[in-house]
Amino acid sequence: MEHEFPTYPTITPEVMLLFADEWRADKWLADKAWPDGKPICPYCERPDAVNILCPVPLRCRCNRCYKYFSVRTRTIYAGSKVPLGKWLHARMIVKHNLGLHHANPHLVKMVRGRLPVEHRTAVCMIRDLRMDLEHTAALRRSRLNIPTSPF
Ligand SMILES: [Zn+2]
Repeated sequence: MEHEFPTYPTITPEVMLLFADEWRADKWLADKAWPDGKPICPYCERPDAVNILCPVPLRCRCNRCYKYFSVRTRTIYAGSKVPLGKWLHARMIVKHNLGLHHANPHLVKMVRGRLPVEHRTAVCMIRDLRMDLEHTAALRRSRLNIPTSPF
């Protein structure tokens, strides 16, 4: 069976720094998720009742539903053992090659070569990222204001 070859996206040195620095990756994701700097509770979606418990890395607690959260809560990155920087790096590669099937062996090889992660981890990350990217695109099309992965 023939497989299309993935291509590596153009990535600026500034963005490259995100991949190696968890704090920067976290901050960058927070800036994307909450552009005005005010965290929004991912459970009750209230922006007006959030206590910032820790700015670095950002940890918050909602005064309405009393739940704790970070910028990763309720995203595909939540609870992952894979560092956020690796997720963001993989996301750029997957987004750049969205036409390819998630199990494309060349795409898996590229992600593994760049990050690096185990084969199974790469396959799962690519699958989750593709679903998230397609979900986000569908939401943008329908113009629903439902929180999704911000990147
Ligand atoms: Zn809440």
